[in-house]
Amino acid sequence: MADDQDLVTEAAQLPRWEVNRYCADCDTENPQWASLNLGILLCITCAGVHRTLGVQISKVRSLELDTDCWDRGQLDFMRQVGNVRARQIYEATCPCWYLRPTRDTTSPIVRENWIRAKYERHDFLLNPPSGQSLAISVMPEPPREGYLWKANKKGTWQKRYFTLFGRYLSYYKASADSYPKGIIDVCELTFALPNGPDGNKRFVFEAHTGSRAFPFGVDSAAEMLDWVHALKRAAAYYITLLNAEAAGAMAPGTVMTLNTASEDDKPLLSYQQMGTPIKMGTLSKQGGHWKSWNKRTCVLVDGMLYYFKKDKPAAGDIPGGGIPLARCAVADGSERAGKARCISLITPSRVYFLCAENDAERNEWFDALTRECDKLTGAQPTSFSEMPQPEPIRTNDAVIEDDSE
Ligand SMILES: [Zn+2]
Repeated sequence: MADDQDLVTEAAQLPRWEVNRYCADCDTENPQWASLNLGILLCITCAGVHRTLGVQISKVRSLELDTDCWDRGQLDFMRQVGNVRARQIYEATCPCWYLRPTRDTTSPIVRENWIRAKYERHDFLLNPPSGQSLAISVMPEPPREGYLWKANKKGTWQKRYFTLFGRYLSYYKASADSYPKGIIDVCELTFALPNGPDGNKRFVFEAHTGSRAFPFGVDSAAEMLDWVHALKRAAAYYITLLNAEAAGAMAPGTVMTLNTASEDDKPLLSYQQMGTPIKMGTLSKQGGHWKSWNKRTCVLVDGMLYYFKKDKPAAGDIPGGGIPLARCAVADGSERAGKARCISLITPSRVYFLCAENDAERNEWFDALTRECDKLTGAQPTSFSEMPQPEPIRTNDAVIEDDSE
């Protein structure tokens, strides 16, 4: 019995070791719960989540209340692992944009997702079972599109269509609109996730610009985490690039901005000056503000898509306009525009809708435009596990929006 009491006393000392000073999953001090099979100490809130995982994943005991679970072997194991070592293993490749709980985190969703990612899905191991490291993403990413609820300045919830493309989150009143109602620079944002679903059963997260909070609502916890992670990932990527640019490590003007005036002011080439088209043909194009569809003769050349009103442009003809593809991403636009065989060319400040006359044409245009855009974006795998989460860049210039919102 004396021996057992010694073991219990020894177990009670575990939180005093420097490596165990903070909860293995959040930074709460003096954790009083143990996961026997993981060899770590936890705060009471994280221990509660561990219990829901099942004993095959985490066997939770209280250091104070459970006195019959300690033997020499178990204590040796706790000594061998400990919180610091366990974090090195279970968080080895955790990307900087991932939502982690802290002692101040009130969101049970963030805490539960973190704990499941670490011990159930093993997402951040050096060799994760999925075979795909979350730490590496090809950046810039393809646009992320979808509906979110957004509270306006008066606090009224409105359903809006969002695109996250490159450095900007743009929102449209209707998915088929060409111009966004507002554009938000993700480099200025920090995020807060309140408690749980609100009164409307929506999962709410807030993006803060420093001077303003944007509350967003989505229908599921998974969707909420996906959006916040994508926004934080884009922010980490572009802030790091902007910092490199400011430090002189990159040519100025490398990072995508909304200042497109210089390119739009460039005189348009005549049909003859464009050179040999990569592809040419008729597409219906949605006009900017009027939402009318007009047949245009489209000419895809190196880096640009020009459009003419005429069926057969003559050598000296100047096009009605041109879309610089370096700032575009290609996506299927049929659902968004509500029209068959539609391709969308997405930029942060405008989306162009183009409809082909038949399926074969649509596919040819889609492939040709995708190839051209991919060539220009220079997307490449980027590792976020060694990148520190950068501080937001605050210019108080984060939002461009239509007053009516
Ligand atoms: Zn904790």
